[in-house]
Amino acid sequence: ASAMAEAAMAAQVPPDEEADECLRDYRHLLSPDLLAGQVAFITGGGSGIGFRIAEIFMRHGCRTVIASRNLERVSEASKKLVAATGQQCLPLSIDVRQPQTIVAAVDEALKEFKRIDILINGAAGNFLCPASALSFNAFKTVIDIDTIGTFNTSKVLFEKYFRDHGGVIVNITATLSYRGQALQVHAGAAKAAIDAMTRHLAVEWGPNNIRVNSLAPGPITGTEGFRRLGGKYAEKSSLFDMIPLQRAGNKTEIAHSSLYLASPLSSYVTGTTLVVDGGSWLTSANSFSALLGIPSSSA
Ligand code: NAP
Repeated sequence: ASAMAEAAMAAQVPPDEEADECLRDYRHLLSPDLLAGQVAFITGGGSGIGFRIAEIFMRHGCRTVIASRNLERVSEASKKLVAATGQQCLPLSIDVRQPQTIVAAVDEALKEFKRIDILINGAAGNFLCPASALSFNAFKTVIDIDTIGTFNTSKVLFEKYFRDHGGVIVNITATLSYRGQALQVHAGAAKAAIDAMTRHLAVEWGPNNIRVNSLAPGPITGTEGFRRLGGKYAEKSSLFDMIPLQRAGNKTEIAHSSLYLASPLSSYVTGTTLVVDGGSWLTSANSFSALLGIPSSSA
């Protein structure tokens, strides 16, 4: 473990926790008041990448709203986040497929905080499945949550606050469609559509002082996505040797890149996708058997 820790230090990898827990120690690389006075609305903020984004934003002075379907999950997460950072965090239940639930949550958030400066669209669903085995409904569900959910939430925030006050939107997407990743037609298509939406909305809403960008993570440890998408197998095998940076990323690294996109550090950046994947999509295998955890020798 100490060899791993030393290697991580040499590579300047920030700390992370495997589970949905706050960091035990955190050293600021940027000013702790980078987001002071601001409020971020984070869908999917109760778990995985969204949870860590909430934590890192709060450690930089931001108050947060974390919203997803499971109220118990976001409430538990909120307690941990408040205890670790001393900032306010409002947990709310929404289903991004149902606009009226978003409207109610944004009304509640504005009542509590009087402002929302940042929207992180992190809510998503994914699983590995060959196109031939994917039901019509399964494909539609992923488009509904990822793509339409991102549109619904962005539109509600625009109408309720950003149109008149400006704002920043960060859409969490993926690199799946760049090379047509096997077993991922549903999520790849859904995320590609979000990247398109990023450009459309950046153009339409730029005059309202709204910046819209995508952040596309590669394989990120300590997430449901990583566990479901065969991360354990990849970890044990030599799959990561093919990633230029030779490892998976962690949630804190995604949160740091989100912090860049959400903060004035990126004040002239809009309509683009920041890929945060260690160079992974350029070089990694696009192999069915590897994704399904079948050793290639058995083929
Ligand atoms: P995760 O923990 O499963 O996060 C997904 C979140 O979305 C959950 O908190 C879930 O909460 C919420 N959600 C799902 N359906 C929803 C709905 N209909 N309405 C509102 N909220 C909903 O997974 P993660 O791996 O951290 O992923 C976070 C983001 O990063 C996703 O956009 C994912 O596509 C992207 N990403 C992840 C990886 C990776 O390696 N993990 C790689 C590339 C991209 P509830 O169940 O409470 O609704």
